This record gives sequence, C-alpha cells and structure tokens, in this order.
Amino acid sequence: MRNGQSGKVILPGSTIGVLGGGQLGRMLALAGRAMGYRFATLDPTPDSPLGQVADEQIVAPYHDAEAAKKLAESSDVITYEFENVDAGVANMLMSESYVPQGSELLYTTQHRLREKRAIEAAGVKVAPYREIGSEAELREAVREFGTPCVLKTATGGYDGKGQWVIRSEDEVQEAYETLSRAKTELVLEQFIRFDKEISVIAARSPRGEVKVFPAAENVHVDNILHLSIVPARADGEVLAQAERMAVRIAETLQVIGLIAVEMFLTRDGELFVNELAPRPHNSGHYTMEACRTSQFEQHVRAICNLPLGPGELLTPVVMANILGEHVAPLLEWMADESGLPEGVAAKVHLYGKHEAKTKRKMGHVNLLTDDVDKAIGWVEQSPIWRS
Ligand code: AMP
Repeated sequence: MRNGQSGKVILPGSTIGVLGGGQLGRMLALAGRAMGYRFATLDPTPDSPLGQVADEQIVAPYHDAEAAKKLAESSDVITYEFENVDAGVANMLMSESYVPQGSELLYTTQHRLREKRAIEAAGVKVAPYREIGSEAELREAVREFGTPCVLKTATGGYDGKGQWVIRSEDEVQEAYETLSRAKTELVLEQFIRFDKEISVIAARSPRGEVKVFPAAENVHVDNILHLSIVPARADGEVLAQAERMAVRIAETLQVIGLIAVEMFLTRDGELFVNELAPRPHNSGHYTMEACRTSQFEQHVRAICNLPLGPGELLTPVVMANILGEHVAPLLEWMADESGLPEGVAAKVHLYGKHEAKTKRKMGHVNLLTDDVDKAIGWVEQSPIWRS
C-alpha cells in the first residue's frame, strides 16, 4: 500500500473494472483512457455503451457472481455506474478485489428512508417525511401534511416511477394499494413548492480531499432531466450554501468517488435535499467541457486516490439531453448546425446505444455559451427538441 493510511494509489496502466456498461461508464472510460487507464466492464447487453470503448466486456447479468468474480480478476480497482448493485455481488467484489467506494454508501442510497436519515445526520434538511406502514398511518400522515403530498416507495423508484402525488384524501386507499404492491417500505413526503430544482456534485478521495462542482439548475420534462443550466439562475449565497451542504454530506457519509446531491430550492431561498446518487450524474454532464476537470475525470482521480482536479467553471453552459425521439433531428442538424446563435458552441455526445427508443437517454449536447438565456432560447425553438 502506498501512502500509508490514506489509501492505495492506483496509477495509469492499471485496469478499472466497472459494474454496468451504460453511458456513465462509457464517459468514465473515455476520461480514464485519456489518462492511461484500462477498462473492463460487466453488462448483460453485448456491445454496451461502455463495452464499445473498454478493453474487455464480460457479457452477463449484474447479479451473476461468477461473472463478477471474473471482473474482479481483470481489475485493479472496481467501481459501479448505477446504485442498485446487488448486495451479495458488492460483498463478493470487496473480498475478491479493491472497491474503494465500499458497500455502505450503496446500502444507504438504495433506500429512501436510510438515505434521508443519513442526510439529516449530516445536519442537512430533507422535505418533512413519515415512514408509512399501513393505510391508517398513511391517512393520518396525509391529514398532518395536507394535500398535495407525495407517497414514494423506499426502493426501486427512479425518474418519478414508484411515486404517487396524493391530491386529495380520497386517493389514500388507491395510492396505498398501488404502491404497496412494490413490496418495500413506503414514505410520505410533504410537497415542497419549489421554485427550482438544483444539484451539486461533490467528490471525495481516500486521502480525505473534497471538491465540488458548481450547482446546476435542472429542468425536467415528464420527470426526465431536460436541461442543466450553469451558473444556476439563483442567488449566489444560496448556491454557495448548496455547495457547502454537498461537502458536508460527502464528509459525513465518508464518500469515496462522486456523490450527486439533488435539492429543491424554494422562493425564499430554503434548500431541501431530495435524493443522493453515489456516482456520476446526468446533471454533471455539463462539466465535460465547461469545467477545468470533468465529473468523470474527477471520479477516476477519487477512486484511484490521485489529487482531485479543480472544479471551476470555465464558461456558462446549458446541457440538453438527447432522448430517443431527438436523435434523428439531431443528426440532421449536425450536418450544418443551422440556426446556432453566435457565441454558442455545441458539443454533441452520443452514447452508442443501438435502439433509439422514445424517452431513452441517447446522448446530450453541451452548449458552451456567453449567455445561458441565449442557449436556452435556441433549445426552445430548435426542431431537435420539438418532438
Ligand atoms: P424523485 O424520484 O424523488 O427524484 O422525484 C421525481 C420528481 O418529483 C422530482 O424531480 C420533483 O419534481 C417531484 N417531487 C418529488 N418529491 C417531491 C416533493 N416532496 N415535493 C415536491 N415535488 C416533489
């Protein structure tokens, strides 16, 4: 072990194993390969987004212990690109290989109640919530919070799935019956009348160094991220506070690698954390060209215990997601980039997915700009996002 107590340093030339072969792993590998690392991945889909740019892909289900063991044998260090890693596989990888991120943070963020308690333990606010064990408890909590309020499953929800916005007490029975089919605990949250959704990504390394990226303002359409706008159009002191909250969470939870912190910002400047993701995050894709260090390079640096890079913003930026229905008009537009305003540069990233299904994340465009409103205006009128 180098560096004594501060953890093992993994130098370029080593192989980074990634559980999951999606776009986050692909962009991690593209950043890591530039630094001289090799990559191996385990993913059930042949020729996965990461498999296309990795040195080796093991094609097998994520919970396949034998396949995970093979990944461990090929890798000097292991990371993951999604948080629903099977606990058995995580433990096996930890005994067979080096997993600096550990499994505790996964255990915490896989479950909304555990996650909320951990955020509160860091001294950071979440929306008021109640654990729900029965329909009667739900009815009582709905009376307490008033409507609307949001019932969520503790596990398995993403992009707004596994949630029910309860708009009147009449919906209690149906909401309870529907979400309890998921066979997981339920949690009721007070509805936050937020002005904006923002997120901050922090990185922490085994030597205890912490760096944050500037807060992003996130715009969702149908519960899927559409735009990230940086700098966020909000009060500078509130954004600085959001960044401090992310640092506090990274330190208290002893994060290794990245942690994305999603928050609600109210009109009076109050911040509530909604959820955490212990990995690179869609709302951090803007860092790829707009920051001195990208979130992907930072994750590689953190898990390999290299000094973290500076996260400062180099230019205002708007990141726009490309979903399946946007691919054809995007490709047509790329031939001449018609209508792109002066002062805006479009950096297109496509993930190499074979099937452009509706709503599937296929890529994103980072619009480096001198004025975020100009870039947003262009997205709003562009034929790419009209479908
Ligand atoms: P989640 O799956 O928790 O990220 O929630 C998906 C979306 O639902 C969020 O991005 C919000 O727009 C909305 N939402 C979730 N929880 C709340 C809440 N407590 N109050 C208001 N809106 C919420």
